[in-house]
Amino acid sequence: MPGIIHIEQLRKSYFMGQQELQVLKGVSLDIHKNEYVSLMGPSGSGKSTLMNILGCLDSPTAGTYILNGHDVSKMHDNALAEVRNKEIGFVFQQFNLLPRLTALENVALPLIYAGVSKSQRNERAMQVLEKVNLTDRSHHKPNELSGGQCQRVAIARALVNDPSIILADEPTGNLDTKTSYEIMDIFGKIHAGGNTVVLVTHEEDIAQHSHRIVRLRDGLIETDKRVENPTLAKI
Ligand code: ADP
Ligand code: MG
Repeated sequence: MPGIIHIEQLRKSYFMGQQELQVLKGVSLDIHKNEYVSLMGPSGSGKSTLMNILGCLDSPTAGTYILNGHDVSKMHDNALAEVRNKEIGFVFQQFNLLPRLTALENVALPLIYAGVSKSQRNERAMQVLEKVNLTDRSHHKPNELSGGQCQRVAIARALVNDPSIILADEPTGNLDTKTSYEIMDIFGKIHAGGNTVVLVTHEEDIAQHSHRIVRLRDGLIETDKRVENPTLAKI
């Protein structure tokens, strides 16, 4: 059965003038509903390029991407945005919060685009802030929050539309070890709640929280292995 994420012979090149840089060179991968996958590989191997395509933030040069039954490799603009907003929550290494907005307002932002009323937006935003244990910081702005708290706000924002898949590109890359583990506990909870989770990490012990490790090298999948005894999240 094809996965909730199904990619076949995916290629991506960047063009600079006459020069073509082939970054993904034919990647095929199925990720099934409620899988918990780490994507690893050396710097420059194409992890972020692949994640951006999986998150519908960028499109492939060639190949197929079927996202929960939708052929998104053939979609553009509004149709693509609609599928993305329904299916995907994306978490970035640099949090990407808006500095002038409070935690609550940052989390509620995607709901404005979805046309949800203000009272419902705030109610829903508080619900997801509760999931990341941050209700007591809801009225603080990013510069009044620690890195770990900012990442929890960003995770809450990714959850606010109730997407089926959470994609996170080096979500603990800017955090110390203890805070990284706190963030991994939250991803564990999200996975236990039924989401499909795909995250990029450089760190072996972070990857050991997931159930499957896919390694990229030079734009191709090098290995794809189950994790024998995943580290349990402290739920
Ligand atoms: P990783 O996340 O594994 O470190 P990336 O996907 O960010 O790798 O990058 C893979 C390669 O593609 C690198 O050589 C990088 O310089 C190049 N690259 C990434 N994004 C762009 C872009 N927008 N334009 C040109 N080259 C890019
Ligand atoms: Mg990267």
